[in-house]
This record gives sequence, structure tokens and C-alpha cells, in this order.
Amino acid sequence: MSKHQDIPLTPINTESSEKVRTGDWRTYIPVFDAEKCIKCYICWKYCPDAAIKVKDEESLPEWDLFHCKGCGICAEECPKDAIEMILEEVE
Ligand code: SF4
Ligand code: SF4
Repeated sequence: MSKHQDIPLTPINTESSEKVRTGDWRTYIPVFDAEKCIKCYICWKYCPDAAIKVKDEESLPEWDLFHCKGCGICAEECPKDAIEMILEEVE
């Protein structure tokens, strides 16, 4: 039977995802159109990474791209199509 020493260290994390830049795993990035947003915060509620922040019920949602993994759930669930997933350019 294999032991952990037998497999490479990466991509296994040694820190909790709170500290790890999980945004580096992203292929697609959410692009937000504030003009379409009705502040329903459904995106915030569905994000599995808590990568969408809402200061208060008057504020527009904001994206924490350090942690957003680009899953696209926010874009899928937004009732106003205010979020579009775009292929992210890597420099
Ligand atoms: S789900 Fe869409 S409309 Fe609702 S707060 Fe998020 S971006 Fe705005
Ligand atoms: S793309 Fe996924 S991880 Fe990123 S903000 Fe939207 S729901 Fe959260």
C-alpha cells in the first residue's frame, strides 16, 4: 500500500484554503456588470468559496479573486445575467 511519502507533495495543500491562493486554480474569471445587478445577493449565497463579499444591503457584491476558483456558479444562478465567465488571460 502507498504511503504519503510515495506521492509528490504538489498539488496537495499543506495550508487551509483560507491561506491558499485558490484563485490560481482558475481558468475562467467572473466579470460583473453593475448596471444589471438588482442586489439580490443570490450570487453571494451560492458561492461555494465565500469569494463574494457584501458589505451591507445597499452595496454591490464584490469579488475576492484571491479565492474565487472560477466555478461559474454565481454566473449560472444570477437572475439578471449580471455575471459572465470569461476565459482568463495568463501572463
Ligand atoms: S445574483 Fe446577480 S443580480 Fe443578484 S446580487 Fe449577484 S450579481 Fe447582482
Ligand atoms: S466563480 Fe465560483 S468561486 Fe468564483 S465567485 Fe463565482 S461562485 Fe464563487
